[in-house]
Amino acid sequence: MALVNEHFLKLSNNYLFADIAKKVNAYKVSHPKTEVISLGIGDVTQPLCPAVIDAMHKAVDEMAEKATFRGYGPERGYDFLREAILKNDFQPRGIHLDPSEIFVNDGAKSDTGNIQEIVRWDNSIGVTDPIYPVYIDSNVMIGRAGIMQDGKWSNVTYFPCTAENGFVPELPDHRVDMIYLCYPNNPTGTVLTKDELRKWVNYALRNDAIIFYDAAYEAYIQDETIPHSIYEIKGARKCAIEFHSYSKTAGFTGVRCGYTVIPKELKAVTLDGKEQVELNHLWDRRQSTKFNGTSYISQRAAEAIYTPEGKEQVKQTIDYYMGNAKIMTESLRKMGFTFYGGENAPYLWVKTPHGESSWRFFEQLLYGASVVCTPGVGFGPSGEGYFRLTAFGEREQCKEAMRRIEEWI
Ligand SMILES: *Cc1c(COP(=O)(O)O)cnc(C)c1O
Repeated sequence: MALVNEHFLKLSNNYLFADIAKKVNAYKVSHPKTEVISLGIGDVTQPLCPAVIDAMHKAVDEMAEKATFRGYGPERGYDFLREAILKNDFQPRGIHLDPSEIFVNDGAKSDTGNIQEIVRWDNSIGVTDPIYPVYIDSNVMIGRAGIMQDGKWSNVTYFPCTAENGFVPELPDHRVDMIYLCYPNNPTGTVLTKDELRKWVNYALRNDAIIFYDAAYEAYIQDETIPHSIYEIKGARKCAIEFHSYSKTAGFTGVRCGYTVIPKELKAVTLDGKEQVELNHLWDRRQSTKFNGTSYISQRAAEAIYTPEGKEQVKQTIDYYMGNAKIMTESLRKMGFTFYGGENAPYLWVKTPHGESSWRFFEQLLYGASVVCTPGVGFGPSGEGYFRLTAFGEREQCKEAMRRIEEWI
């Protein structure tokens, strides 16, 4: 019999959202008449904007004609989209990248999970805690994370982000080769200032480390001083790979499109120390072997976000979600909760009252107010004692959920 990759067996079978669904279903069975409102799952609810829909219709029509039909596209993405990305997401911030440094993809999950393939399995990794689970799990699968002991992976350095340090991770006191940062952060909704991010870039430059920077929520930043891209920091081109996604920016969770930036200056070294290799080249090689591009229709849809109408429409939807966040913020403040985020991200990270555990509070909220939250501990050990609320719901549901919590509290 063939042997399995036993690293997969180390992964927890208890997927957070499956556990939540099970508990919610049990509640629904015993309370059939109650309508449960979810402030839990991180999917969007508002439809694609008209500019995107028009572009997709047009692209579909092109596919119907022999003269304009498109088959396999370029693996790095179509030039029209990569040019629009450079012109709109980077040039206005003084960042000058080459189209060959942009890799269009089918969303940030694939690339944040796959990127670790292009560096050796025995590099050390560091993650902020709590964290988006993809970063660690993808490293577990290749054997880089070690084994699970007392809720932590033995070969992973955790940078705790808690109220005690204001959700600003502290630099490690030892060398870490690969560092995952996500800002604005899922799940905490917090951000890093330029100075705080600069410390990480400088650490990476000093230690020849690589930063994997997930900017999936960049479009939600309201404060003009907060960096949208790590390349706003000097030197980041030499040490950082950045991931973008249209999923949260423009409701593309079902369309699938995003992009990854790998500057040509970013290099890693061979084991014998003799050769420095461009990671851009390795990722290109990897993608051309394992990936056949994002659909033409999705890429035309993404391009439409950068038109004047597209920009305005996307902003309206983001304003809608951030309007929900404001309602939730005001309500939580009134009730006396201690919470973070919700200003530059669609997430609120709330301390459980009286130091209760995340899961205990989850059940109390479900049974007391018929509202679903996400237990913070599901995102890592430092998430214990917190829960996450998302602003991705419908306005009326969001208001009703807060009304119920106020009544219950
Ligand atoms: C939602 C999300 C993404 C985006 O995933 P897609 O695959 O692009 O839909 C990436 N990173 C984080 C932290 C997210 O929450």
